[in-house]
Amino acid sequence: MRRRALLGAAGLALAPAVVRAADGDLAADVLIVGAGLAGLTAARALMAANKKVLVLEARDRIGGRAFTDTSLGFAFDTGAAWLPAGALAKELGGKPVGGPEVSAVSLLGKPLSAEALKDYAKTEETMTARLKEARTRQPGVAATAVLFANTPAEQLVLARLAAPMPFEKAVSLEGGVGAAVARFGLRVPVKLGAHVVRVDSTGGNVTVVTTGGALHARAAIVTVPVGVLAAGPFAFAPPLKPPKRAVLTGNAMVASLRVGLSFARGMPKTPANALLGGLTRAGVPFEALVRPANRDAAVVVLTGAAATQIEEKGPSASGAFALSALAEVYGNDVRAAFTGSLASRWSHDPFARGAWCVPAASSAAALAAPHDSRVFFASDATAAAHTGTLEAAHASGLRSAGEAKALLR
Ligand SMILES: Cc1cc2nc3c(=O)[nH]c(=O)nc-3n(C[C@H](O)[C@H](O)[C@H](O)COP(=O)(O)OP(=O)(O)OC[C@H]3O[C@@H](n4cnc5c(N)ncnc54)[C@H](O)[C@@H]3O)c2cc1C
Repeated sequence: MRRRALLGAAGLALAPAVVRAADGDLAADVLIVGAGLAGLTAARALMAANKKVLVLEARDRIGGRAFTDTSLGFAFDTGAAWLPAGALAKELGGKPVGGPEVSAVSLLGKPLSAEALKDYAKTEETMTARLKEARTRQPGVAATAVLFANTPAEQLVLARLAAPMPFEKAVSLEGGVGAAVARFGLRVPVKLGAHVVRVDSTGGNVTVVTTGGALHARAAIVTVPVGVLAAGPFAFAPPLKPPKRAVLTGNAMVASLRVGLSFARGMPKTPANALLGGLTRAGVPFEALVRPANRDAAVVVLTGAAATQIEEKGPSASGAFALSALAEVYGNDVRAAFTGSLASRWSHDPFARGAWCVPAASSAAALAAPHDSRVFFASDATAAAHTGTLEAAHASGLRSAGEAKALLR
């Protein structure tokens, strides 16, 4: 049917002159590399348009940087945890659960009083304004290049400005965001354990080479994170053009470490959904959601340089750090009540190489640009808006599916 549409009305003379795999050799109309939200969204959109797709996923699971672990007795998202209340939350399904309800700041292990909190807010306002002003003169300049921190409050503000989270903590999903993304992809055909090393579009079709063999399709959508494309082994034939290559080398992924901790009943003693921003006595900036959904649990989060530093030491050290950070604030009772921890390690994961990437709009556009007319790109770093987030991954999946559909028409 597809072949008839290609050759029928226009006639054989208009068929491409290049040698192509016979239709029987094609694994799909479109091969999609990566079963994160971008790849699954692209696959669903193409399937809805009656195109045959196959997703090639290196891991033994789908969802990519959205993954829910339940081994601690609560739904702990080791990756993406928050999304806006709205269309995407609805599409992913799962009951939205509200974000933090109370917040506190602790410096060097001491929670700030209401009066001290006002001073902290002023410091934050001043430093944010200074950075904004510096960036009007020098767009994209690093916070650490223009701001200095002498006091603990300034240290915490600077750490936050140097590695801002690109998403709002609006809602999470009951049962976990990762679990919802996995459900979203349930009906998508995925080949797990398919580690792609090369995408070759030099023939009439596209050949996607995995460590276990090659597959052919009319088009491909590559959705792997920027860090994976940059680090390799991931080759393109013909090679990627200089603008895309420049973006890959010039935009490192940001590190973010998430540590889930579980406790005995009633601990830590604090109201549910409490968001704590803190600087430990050793000067390490962190954030914690304590008693999420009123569970006897906490999720400690580090971002940027602090995440890199702790993540490097491994999951046990990450767990120990997180427990100490909480004990400094809530007292040693939490140590006695501690029952277990689990830490992410995305920067050391060969299929992630970090948490997210937020390139400038022009770089995101260069990353998103099709390669050799039949290889398309999606991922959280390729979208112009909300870059580095689930929303961006979803939007890029839809965009890339539209591009592939236009080619297949
Ligand atoms: C700790 C952390 C916290 C975060 N928190 C939030 C949050 O709260 N809210 C938010 O909006 N975003 C958050 N993010 C970012 C969010 O997770 C990503 O933006 C989103 O999941 C990206 O989806 P994606 O499909 O573009 O990429 P991915 O989910 O990374 O999917 C890419 C897929 O490609 C696969 N792959 C990689 N290499 C290969 C290969 N060679 N061959 C085959 N397959 C390959 C990977 O295994 C993966 O499944 C967070 C990320 C992290 C790590």
